[in-house]
Amino acid sequence: MSLLEITDLRTYYRADDGWVRATDGVSLSVDRGETVGLVGESGSGKTTLAKSIIRLFPDNAEIRGGSIEFDGTEITELTDKELRRRIRWQEISMIPQNAMNGFDPVYTVGDQIVQVIRHHEDGVSKAEARSRARDLFDELGIEPDRIDDYPHQFSGGMAQRAMIALALALGPSLVLADEPTTALDVVIQDRILETITEKQAEIDSAMIMITHDMSVVSETCDRIAVVYGGRVVEIADTRTVITNPRHPYTLGLRNAFPDISDDDQELISIPGTPPDLVDPDEGCRFAPRCPFAEEDCWDVTPEPREYEPGHLVECHRADEIDYLQEAAGRKAT
Ligand code: ATP
Repeated sequence: MSLLEITDLRTYYRADDGWVRATDGVSLSVDRGETVGLVGESGSGKTTLAKSIIRLFPDNAEIRGGSIEFDGTEITELTDKELRRRIRWQEISMIPQNAMNGFDPVYTVGDQIVQVIRHHEDGVSKAEARSRARDLFDELGIEPDRIDDYPHQFSGGMAQRAMIALALALGPSLVLADEPTTALDVVIQDRILETITEKQAEIDSAMIMITHDMSVVSETCDRIAVVYGGRVVEIADTRTVITNPRHPYTLGLRNAFPDISDDDQELISIPGTPPDLVDPDEGCRFAPRCPFAEEDCWDVTPEPREYEPGHLVECHRADEIDYLQEAAGRKAT
C-alpha cells in the first residue's frame, strides 16, 4: 500500500463570485521514500493540493470531497487538533515557499525548533532538544550558535536551511516542499536542493516537491505529476514525462524550459491564459490553448486513462501526439 493515497480530492476557496475550484478531482499516490514532483504554471493548484494534505490553508478554503489516506489513516476525517497532534511536523511536514514567513518573528529560531520537538516527543528535555537543534543546524551548514538568533537576523538562504531543519527535525515520513529554492539566489539554489535530498535520503522520507521548473524535477523526482486547472493531467516516471509526454500541456511546459545541457535551445512559452476556476467550461480545460484541440476536446471532459503502465494522461489526443507534433512541425517549415 502507498504511504499517501489521494482520491478524487476537491479543495475549493470561497470567493465573492463563487467557489474557486483550485483542486478539482485529483488522485495521486506517493510511495514510501519516493519523491513526486508537482509541476505546472502559477495558479494551477499545486500549493492548494499540498496544503490540503496537512490542512494548512486559509479560512476560506474547504475540502469539499474526496479522500486523503495517509499510512492507513483517513486524514480528512481527523479534527484540526488530532491533525496537529498526530500528523503535522511529526509525520508530514512542509517547507514553504518563503521560509521567513514560516517562522514566528517574536521567538528565536532555536526556540521554535525546540518547541516543535518537545511538543511532539514526550520526555525530551529542553537541553536535549537544543542539542538536537544545534546538530541539525550544523548538518545543514549553519553555525550552531545561531539557533539563538531571531528570524530577521537570517539571510534568505539561511532561513530556508533553518526551515528545512525544522521540517526534518522529527524525521517525518512525508515532506511537502513548496518551491523550496525559488526565493533564493541561483548560486545557492543547487546547494539547498542537494541538502534537502541528502537529508531526505538519510531519514528515508517521501517527498512532494512543488516547482514550476522542469530542470529541478528532472534532477530530484522519481515521478512527475503535471497540474493544470486544478487537475493532474499527466503522471508518469520522470524520464517518461520528459522524453515521451502525451499531454500537449506537458509538451508546452517542457518546451518552455531550456534544457540545462543545451545552450542553443529556444525557449517557447505557452500562449494563452489558464482557465477560469470559478466557472470552468465543459470539455478539456486546456482546449482553448491547445494546438491540437478538436471538437470533442471542447465538448467532452477527458477522463484519466492509462496510456501505458504507470503513465496516466487526461487527453483525447494522447495517442496521436507524435503524429500531430510532426505535422505541426512540417506546417511550420
Ligand atoms: P503558484 O505557483 O503561484 O504558487 P499554484 O499552482 O500553487 O500557484 P495555488 O496557489 O494552489 O496555485 O492556486 C490555485 C488557484 O486558487 C488560483 O486560481 C488562485 O488564484 C486560487 N487561490 C489561491 N488561494 C486562494 C484564496 N485564499 N482565496 C481564493 N482563491 C485562492
